Amino acid sequence: MLSKSDYLINIAATCVGTRALGPGLRSVVWVQGCPFRCSGCLSPQWIPIRNARLVPIDILVEELLINPLVDGLTLSGGEPFLQAAALSELVRQARKQRELSLICFTGYQLADLRNMTAVKGVEDLLSMIDVLIDGPYIAELDDNRGMRGSSNQVIHHLTDRLKDYNFETQPRQAEIRISDGDMLFVGVPPQGIIPQVDQEVRLNSSRMKVLYEWT
Ligand code: SF4
Repeated sequence: MLSKSDYLINIAATCVGTRALGPGLRSVVWVQGCPFRCSGCLSPQWIPIRNARLVPIDILVEELLINPLVDGLTLSGGEPFLQAAALSELVRQARKQRELSLICFTGYQLADLRNMTAVKGVEDLLSMIDVLIDGPYIAELDDNRGMRGSSNQVIHHLTDRLKDYNFETQPRQAEIRISDGDMLFVGVPPQGIIPQVDQEVRLNSSRMKVLYEWT
């Protein structure tokens, strides 16, 4: 059963309708807070475990599905499994409205998650995921290939739903979303792109804030 706090999800950012983070048209949730603190993390501002945007689950479902063509969700972060109970409820509610595939990036390894049965929501969320991309980001193993940050990360097809999509060989891509003077990179960006864009932005706009950057 969910506790009261599980009805809120602590969100770093969202994106509705992207083709940069998996097959089809996807909505993405990046959660706030991660215990791994990988060196070179693409989103270090999303590592601190603090309240960011606290959103009721039903409101977030409406937001993510506002585009009727969205046919998949991607969870990333931050660390999704820190909010496993709330996220599994989010996916359950969203799937009541339409059929959706689910991709999840996590710093945990699948074997660890399978042993975390005592942690609320972990087993439930795991049972809903079609593709899990697991393991921490290791900058030295970033080979600029596929839809994962470094070669230690494993792409697990936990169901057959997305089995025809080869995550390992997909060219890396990133979309840039700009809203209210903030810039958000969506995707697994090819090496070198973020500093290049960051430099252009800093040269051309003193008002633009980069939300998602290399360190
Ligand atoms: S697991 Fe992901 S979000 Fe967490 S620190 Fe590592 S790269 Fe960043």
